[in-house]
Amino acid sequence: MRDTLVLNASFEPLSTVTLNRAVVLVLTDKAVVEQAHPELRMRGAAIEMPVPRVIRLCRYVRVPFRRRAPWSRRGVLVRDQHRCAYCGKRATTVDHVVPRSRGGADSWLNTVASCAEDNHRKADRTPEQAGMPLLREPFEPTPADAMLLSLGSGAEVLPDWLSRGAAA
Ligand SMILES: [Zn+2]
Repeated sequence: MRDTLVLNASFEPLSTVTLNRAVVLVLTDKAVVEQAHPELRMRGAAIEMPVPRVIRLCRYVRVPFRRRAPWSRRGVLVRDQHRCAYCGKRATTVDHVVPRSRGGADSWLNTVASCAEDNHRKADRTPEQAGMPLLREPFEPTPADAMLLSLGSGAEVLPDWLSRGAAA
């Protein structure tokens, strides 16, 4: 995956984000493109833009001085870009990999975005027991990542053509 470096408004590097998230931040006027891939452009009906390699936030953000990002259901959905960890379709719920009834925690590493159907189907079982392997492993975002996630929570509205165009 082609990641984009995010700079704070003060030009200090904060973190990297996926290309999709970078584009959302630019399209929602939260960031500007500082450096683009020289030969790549994204094209759509109404928009043509360079493929950002480095973006800079328009407003300075204070990154909380914490070792760990606080867990939240919304944060999990945004981290996973509203994609179901079991089938890849649009996710609206958060599934506990190890169910809470079996001692599974509300934590970044034990929760994934899930469509309602798969969440219901998996029910009170682990992925192994349910025969539903995870498409990707959950990860713990850094505090800077979490801050960026909360800034650009509109990833789900990114039009399909834009990500397709970028992959070409
Ligand atoms: Zn699903």
